[in-house]
Amino acid sequence: MPRQPASSQIFVVSAPSGVGKTTLINKISPNWPNLCFSVSATTRPPRAGEVHGKDYLFFSREEFIRGVREDRFLEWAHVHGEYYGTDSRQIEGWLTEGKDVLLDIDVQGARQIRCMLPWARTIFILPPSMDVLQERLRKRATETIEVLTKRLAAAQREIQEAIWYDFIIVNDDLQEAAADFNAILRACHCDRAAQTSKLKPFLLPSLQPVID
Ligand code: 5GP
Repeated sequence: MPRQPASSQIFVVSAPSGVGKTTLINKISPNWPNLCFSVSATTRPPRAGEVHGKDYLFFSREEFIRGVREDRFLEWAHVHGEYYGTDSRQIEGWLTEGKDVLLDIDVQGARQIRCMLPWARTIFILPPSMDVLQERLRKRATETIEVLTKRLAAAQREIQEAIWYDFIIVNDDLQEAAADFNAILRACHCDRAAQTSKLKPFLLPSLQPVID
């Protein structure tokens, strides 16, 4: 799917672990009924309360590797020692139906999507500071100290990648961050490329090929 479908958009959202990306996405999702949330495959074990098919597709390593061989993933990456991948069929189905798609993926996956689909819009969520991030990770305490230390070092590296994203949101105050997120999605819907079908009827025949 190299070309942007007439009425759909892909939003790629990345953030280091502990920035509050999931909370932020859950907060804005009721405002965007046409927005579908990609359910990734992962080899990481489920956390308490996570449901197969809703939060992730929990795959064994063998299943995941088979998926890679069978070209099942639009992108995939090795993140924090586990494999994660985006199911291409799910995304293609939604785009065919004219839906928008949100991919919550890491910076390696975002790079792959950007190369393949340059029209996808990329959004990076920053913590207010590294100190605040450390504190949030400590409070979350769903992982061991060793994992937390690894995630903090990874966060530092991941943040360096924010320089090539289209949009940055700082998640200091949740309400403000959600307002920024909503504003970005709204602006992207007013993007000229996204409004082509509305603009087209007004254009003189000589200009039609320019936007086709
Ligand atoms: P977690 O294990 O905390 O749910 O996610 C760890 C990291 O993996 C997060 O940065 C998340 O965005 C990323 N991730 C989740 N699904 C995918 C995916 O399908 N592809 C890639 N590249 N990263 C993913």
